Amino acid sequence: MICPKCNSSNTRVIDSRDTQNGREVRRRRVCESCENRFTTFERCARPKLLIEKKDGFLEPYDREKVESGIWRSLKKRNINPESIKFDLDSLEDKWGKTNAEVSSNTIGDDIMSMLLNHDEVAYIRYASIYKDFKSIEEFEVFIKQFCNPE
Ligand SMILES: [Zn+2]
Repeated sequence: MICPKCNSSNTRVIDSRDTQNGREVRRRRVCESCENRFTTFERCARPKLLIEKKDGFLEPYDREKVESGIWRSLKKRNINPESIKFDLDSLEDKWGKTNAEVSSNTIGDDIMSMLLNHDEVAYIRYASIYKDFKSIEEFEVFIKQFCNPE
C-alpha cells in the first residue's frame, strides 16, 4: 500500500480490526518514510454478475428487478420476505461462483425452484410470467404437468 501523502511504498499495518460483523476489515497503517498515518478498508468484492439473455445479449444483473418479480408472485401470500431474501442471497452466491455470466434461464429456473419450496401459488404465478405462455392451452398443459407429474 502506497502512502497517500508521499507516495512511498514503505508502509506497514499497525492495527487491524473487523467492522460490520466481520464483513469489513479496517487497518491503520503508518508510512515509514514520512510517518503519515492512514486507514484502509478491506471488503469482499461481490463479483459483477452479467445475465445472458435469450437473444444472447448480456445485461447487468439487477437485484431490484429480480426481487420485484418475486414480490409480485408473492402478493397476499403469507411468506416471510426475510426468508426469501436469504434464499436469494444464497442463489446469488451460487450464480457468482460458477461464472461471471449466468443465463436468464438459470436464474428463472432457480427462482422457480426456490419459490416452490415456499409456496405453490407463488410458483405458478412466477412461472406464468417467466415461461411467457403464448396461450391459455400452453398454460393449462403446464398446470396439468405440475399437478400430475409423470
Ligand atoms: Zn509517507
